[in-house]
Amino acid sequence: MAFEGLTERLQKTFRNLRGKGKVSESDLRSTMREIRLALLEADVNFTVVRNFVKKVQTRAKGADVLEGLNPAQQIVKIVDDELTKTMGKEATPLNKSEKIPTVIMMAGLQGAGKTTTAGKLALKLKNENKARPLLIAADVYRPAAVDQLVQVGQQVNVPVFQQGVDVDPVDIVKAGLDQAKKDKNDYVIIDTAGRLQIDQKLMDELKRIKALANPDEILLVVDAMTGQNAVSTAQGFNDDLDVSGVVLTKLDGDTRGGAALSIRAVTKKPIKFVGQGEKMTDLDVFHPDRMASRILG
Ligand code: GDP
Repeated sequence: MAFEGLTERLQKTFRNLRGKGKVSESDLRSTMREIRLALLEADVNFTVVRNFVKKVQTRAKGADVLEGLNPAQQIVKIVDDELTKTMGKEATPLNKSEKIPTVIMMAGLQGAGKTTTAGKLALKLKNENKARPLLIAADVYRPAAVDQLVQVGQQVNVPVFQQGVDVDPVDIVKAGLDQAKKDKNDYVIIDTAGRLQIDQKLMDELKRIKALANPDEILLVVDAMTGQNAVSTAQGFNDDLDVSGVVLTKLDGDTRGGAALSIRAVTKKPIKFVGQGEKMTDLDVFHPDRMASRILG
């Protein structure tokens, strides 16, 4: 189960608190210290942790929790609520254009899971929205990327528009969008190039694609297993591209939870989906409240 360490530590903290019957100011202080350490150990961004603990503490004091019934239970409730808020409160749906096609642009570092997620998303739209998506292969940086998207397209039975790797990606996107208009596709998903790290050339290319395609949604794909690196990557991409949502992949392999808990608060952009496996069906809408419950165990 993901986030095991964090869940265990928080549960232990709350068990101690419950065992006390009456909770004193100093019990509250040590509880806050424990929560702070648990979050830091889970690789949550330092500022996010500080703000989180401050909010929980203020609410616990303000509500006279210590004077009321079941103070321990009330504190757990406050922590649950603030965890949910930190991750964005409610699920944020995918943007949709008034007229077809809705254009979704994928962005992210190499290996984050862009191509896989593009396929997963196409399948989800097909199954849940009865959509007829078109995938566009605009990653000309890695020759294998086009083939990979074509394979993914075959797996989910969605057409892939491609022109190899010797054409400017902006021209590919333009031709792909024309094709989608002709075929009356209601969704277009553009797979773009990644790099091992953020670099200016990549950002310039993505900005050019954005300017041409005018996407309704720019989904930034980040690997949850990279923890705080995922957060700074998200921040870097968002500064340049002003993304509209984040997909957190490989949550199935993330043992700590730092990225899930930090990204929204740091970038102010919602996590819209989470990838929880390698299969094409392993993409889920992100629900902050459910994630908070999962963390609290
Ligand atoms: P790209 O370079 O960003 O296009 O990344 P890919 O789509 O090629 O994905 C890189 C690797 O991560 C592949 O082996 C995928 O199967 C794997 N992957 C992507 N998403 C997930 C996920 O949610 N969970 C797991 N376990 N693996 C994933």
